[in-house]
Amino acid sequence: MAAKRDYYEVLGVSRNATQEEIKKAYRQLALKYHPDRNPGNKEAEEKFKEAAEAYAVLSDPEKRAHYDRFGHAGVGEQPFTGFSPDIFADFADILGSFFGFEGIFGRRSSSGPQRGADLRTVVRISFEEMASGVEKVLHVPREENCSTCGGTGAAPGSQPVTCRVCGGRGQVRLNQGFFSLVRTCPQCDGSGRVITSPCRECNGSGRVERRREVRFSIPAGVENGTRLRLVGQGEEGVRGGPPGDLYVQIQVEPHDVFVRQGADIHVEVEVSAFLAALGGEIEVPTLSGTQTVRLPEGSQPGDTVILRGEGLPRVGRGGRGDLVVHLKVVVPKKLSGKQRELLRQLLAEDQSKESSVFRKVRDFLEGNG
Ligand SMILES: [Zn+2]
Ligand SMILES: [Zn+2]
Repeated sequence: MAAKRDYYEVLGVSRNATQEEIKKAYRQLALKYHPDRNPGNKEAEEKFKEAAEAYAVLSDPEKRAHYDRFGHAGVGEQPFTGFSPDIFADFADILGSFFGFEGIFGRRSSSGPQRGADLRTVVRISFEEMASGVEKVLHVPREENCSTCGGTGAAPGSQPVTCRVCGGRGQVRLNQGFFSLVRTCPQCDGSGRVITSPCRECNGSGRVERRREVRFSIPAGVENGTRLRLVGQGEEGVRGGPPGDLYVQIQVEPHDVFVRQGADIHVEVEVSAFLAALGGEIEVPTLSGTQTVRLPEGSQPGDTVILRGEGLPRVGRGGRGDLVVHLKVVVPKKLSGKQRELLRQLLAEDQSKESSVFRKVRDFLEGNG
């Protein structure tokens, strides 16, 4: 193979050419050497490839900088197939008609195997299901290959025949002025084959919609909004292509009592003012039932009691979070006669030990300060 020509030389631009100049130069060369305008001309085809390669490097500021410093070695010696076709998007009007080099423009054959479509769905689960983990069954409507015709679309006993419009290529060439444009064949829709007696089951499409049962398990402690990917559970591939995937988004319903924060669970528990003052036992709801918790004397509103390891499983990390109990101290709104009497006595007792602030204020007013 001959030594590669300098990319600037190929495009006929100076080393400090602007991106605009590079683009313009490439456009002219692409038009000039386009194989559709030079049928059977190997040299033109080579020049066309060479210009595309030079443009792929020089139009990318990073690759261009590498090339400027290290020459061809800086951008790799791989054959031209390594570049993204995106950079040629601006030249779709020129290149769109060019299908000579499948490797360059990543031509997608419409008659080859195709991957099945991905499917998406949402599954709602209760807080309890989330906490314990749960197995779910979905009935997914999805396209599958028709079992009657084996996906060919042709009635059993018959065969699809080669499309006469495109001769089986799946594409037709339309001449428009200088350029010839290649379009998907309207007769066979790109498959290159035509069904003369269609399968009755699928009306010749080769595909049928079926509801398929998909079982999967949701791990305990899963976060709301998590998306699970069930590999291969999407639609079946066409002409031997692989199946798509099924994406399941998990929505966890909020709980009446528990509020989640990461792997921790928060719960508010009402405690009477009397019990909070005296201390004592309270019942606390947990994921596994109720637990008795001892409150110390003089518990205050908003105090928390932490039950270690009574939270949710930490997905993928092991262990569990905590259950955080928030005390809501409730002052009774109605009192029995006896309660009222007892509280009066308590209050009288309490005033004898008045707060230091109150005493200071009184001392000040009485001129003792
Ligand atoms: Zn069929
Ligand atoms: Zn056709």
